[in-house]
Amino acid sequence: MAVAHRLFRPFTPAAKNNLSSFLIRSLSSSSSTHGPSLDPEIDLKEAAAELEKSSSPSSSPSPSKGRNFHWVFLGCPGVGKGTYASRLSTLLGVPHIATGDLVREELSSSGLLSSQLKELVNHGKLVPDEFIISLLSKRLEAGKEKGESGYILDGFPRTVTQAEILEGVINVDLVINLKLKEEALLAKCLGRRICSECGANYNVACIDIKGDDGMYMPPLLPPPKCESKLITRADDTAEVVKERLRVYNKMTQPVEEFYRKRGKLLEFELPGGIPQSWPKLLRALHLEDDKQSAIA
Ligand code: ADP
Repeated sequence: MAVAHRLFRPFTPAAKNNLSSFLIRSLSSSSSTHGPSLDPEIDLKEAAAELEKSSSPSSSPSPSKGRNFHWVFLGCPGVGKGTYASRLSTLLGVPHIATGDLVREELSSSGLLSSQLKELVNHGKLVPDEFIISLLSKRLEAGKEKGESGYILDGFPRTVTQAEILEGVINVDLVINLKLKEEALLAKCLGRRICSECGANYNVACIDIKGDDGMYMPPLLPPPKCESKLITRADDTAEVVKERLRVYNKMTQPVEEFYRKRGKLLEFELPGGIPQSWPKLLRALHLEDDKQSAIA
């Protein structure tokens, strides 16, 4: 398989040790054409200075954890990027970094920036490239301080500009493109529930598509301890999910092509729920030997 040899490629740190500053500099000089800018709320120079400070080597670096995987999950809203990225993260011992989670953390703070962001996110729009890269850079720097050396990205890159910048600074080993029928995507987003206390994701939808090409995905119900604490994401309404799907097709599908051309894209059609899909995904990734340690 064309992508298989990339799975265990060793990390080459040369000239890529200051990702944040590079990303910020790249963005400062690139003209982002995606979505409204939140400037002047985001001051790139200030962010870059902060990042320079935070990227100075840690005085007591902890040993590297996990292996040096640099993987990316692509796929439409609701496809299950978070579920499978998180399982692989546990299996491989590398952090799962979801830019949607970073954005939601930012939204939970108060202030003008947060309300401007909320306006975009709750209408299904992407946030500006410079903003998301600044958030990601901070997260990567914090991880570096803790000794993290690889990651599974979920929800980034979502535009060709983001992909080009990432490609300029990191050797992405593999891009897993998850696929699911569109009617299942909508139902999954509408059925998604999150425990407001522990953050676990559940799904109350029962997807049962009939016919030769049909599929069955049972609900993923919460345990009693989470039952009374379930919340729904503000952007998981029918109207906003349709807009997110439209935005995905317009802005993120070209990213699939970007990685396909580079021979890094692994297409993976989900055959059903977790019990069918997880073992099949492990086989596609040649990770069956590791599955003893995988979470059930
Ligand atoms: P989805 O279920 O649509 O994949 P996510 O949880 O990944 O949702 O992201 C939630 C929202 O956060 C997105 O709709 C978008 O507004 C914002 N967001 C997340 N990642 C990015 C990104 N890489 N670029 C721009 N906006 C992003």
